[in-house]
Amino acid sequence: MTECIFCQLIENPHRTNFLLEDEIGVAFNDINPQAPTHFLVVPKQHVASARELGENDIAIFGHLMGLCQQVASLTGICEEGYRYVLNTGKNGGQTVNHLHFHVLGGRQMGWPPG
Ligand code: AMP
Ligand code: ZN
Repeated sequence: MTECIFCQLIENPHRTNFLLEDEIGVAFNDINPQAPTHFLVVPKQHVASARELGENDIAIFGHLMGLCQQVASLTGICEEGYRYVLNTGKNGGQTVNHLHFHVLGGRQMGWPPG
């Protein structure tokens, strides 16, 4: 059994309600939401972070962003706007080492980020 919690979620789909799923990725709500809407979009393939994406994987990025847009639409945050976050490595604040986009919406975001 894999140690990666996101691989575990993907391999056991009954453990969470996916907002959307296709052959490349899944979207699900963050367990500790930082905004009224806060979901994650994750590739099914285990990639540790954006740093590990090779030349041949780069199309995954675009595809995942497409999923983010679709779920943003489904959750009704499109019109008012939303934020993509892609924490990468220690200084980026990444805590789960399986590539994931955060999408946050439903409130005004601050800048600069913490
Ligand atoms: P990061 O700090 O960018 O690596 O983000 C990891 C995110 O995963 C955090 O926002 C966590 O709240 C979230 N998270 C961790 N475990 C789960 C889980 N089982 N289901 C949904 N979200 C999770
Ligand atoms: Zn994984």
